[in-house]
Amino acid sequence: MTIIENKPRLLTGDTPTGRLHLGHWVGSLENRVAMQDEYECYFIIANMHAFTTRMERPAEIHESVMDITMDYLAAGIDPKKSQIFVQSEIPAISEMTFFFSMLIPYPRLMRNPTIKDEIRDKGLGDNYAFGFLLYPVGQVADILVFRPEVVPVGEDQIPHLEMTREVARRFNQLYCHVDPQTEDDDYIKQGGLFPVIKPKLGRTKRLVGTNGPGPDGNLLKMSKSLNNAIFLSDDADTIKKKVMGMYTDPKRLKATDKGSIENNPLWIFHDTFNSDKAWVEEAKARYQAGGIGDVECKRRLIDVLVELIEPMRLRRLQYEKDLHYVQSVLKEGTANANEVANKTLLLAKEAMRQRFF
Ligand code: ATP
Ligand code: MG
Repeated sequence: MTIIENKPRLLTGDTPTGRLHLGHWVGSLENRVAMQDEYECYFIIANMHAFTTRMERPAEIHESVMDITMDYLAAGIDPKKSQIFVQSEIPAISEMTFFFSMLIPYPRLMRNPTIKDEIRDKGLGDNYAFGFLLYPVGQVADILVFRPEVVPVGEDQIPHLEMTREVARRFNQLYCHVDPQTEDDDYIKQGGLFPVIKPKLGRTKRLVGTNGPGPDGNLLKMSKSLNNAIFLSDDADTIKKKVMGMYTDPKRLKATDKGSIENNPLWIFHDTFNSDKAWVEEAKARYQAGGIGDVECKRRLIDVLVELIEPMRLRRLQYEKDLHYVQSVLKEGTANANEVANKTLLLAKEAMRQRFF
């Protein structure tokens, strides 16, 4: 199929290290579903990046690619409008990763705060793979081969997008002879190949997880890898267990103790997901004065979350029964993504004077 639409292009995606969770929903997925009509959307499942931390578990990565595809479909991504595709099936991404890696000084890469956070929070120590450091460069290629106008992501991706912007400027200056004084928005107009993209953050930039703080005392972000997530495929019982066991204010032992709403996932979740703002404000005031129990507030939250997640879970069950269909969505999305990526690769090789045949 050839994509004929003339809409602005959008690229974003996920690493297949598990199923999608509420952090993905408010950080990016919700935006994606809403933007499908106005944008030509490409959703990458970054399976090569999953190898950075799970190289010894390839079957899990495979399963997770299918899981994420089903999560997308269940959340409302429509394969008639949008392309869902597998990273390792897009050779142009790997080819461009090598060329882009030359445009990023090594010390610059090591200053990337998300890399530092991930090494700490995922407990990678100092034994992480060389490829772990390469993945942000790979992500630059994931994005740039699609030359998108919009990239909706969570806050942890901002440093990677900043690198993407730097690489785009550098490439355009070196190989397309764009003046370094050019404003970011004007690079394409001045003859550049790659746009200097602005990230688009979701309504919650960084949703916290259900467990307490990490080693640095701050609440950790909800993450597939950190065992602190409520998944879009969780059933009502699982949601109930997770919310009932969730971290709140450790200093509060009984309902009559004054509680803190700061750094308290219970209230962060109510603020993010509960549309009954009047109840939330009143309950917060009572919580701080020692007038309402954790259990009552948690029960409310369970209702709110089940209402959001249950319709997605039910839709997902249908896809689980039809893996052939899920596979065909990926196959077609990947073919369409390759059309775009290969076009960019040729243009990039032409610009770099490395097109020989
Ligand atoms: P992993 O633990 O394997 O890193 P993850 O849960 O961090 O997984 P990613 O696949 O790395 O998920 O991220 C996919 C997208 O979802 C990114 O744009 C990321 O910023 C966003 N995202 C992930 N977690 C959250 C969160 N807790 N809050 C907001 N956005 C998030
Ligand atoms: Mg992540």
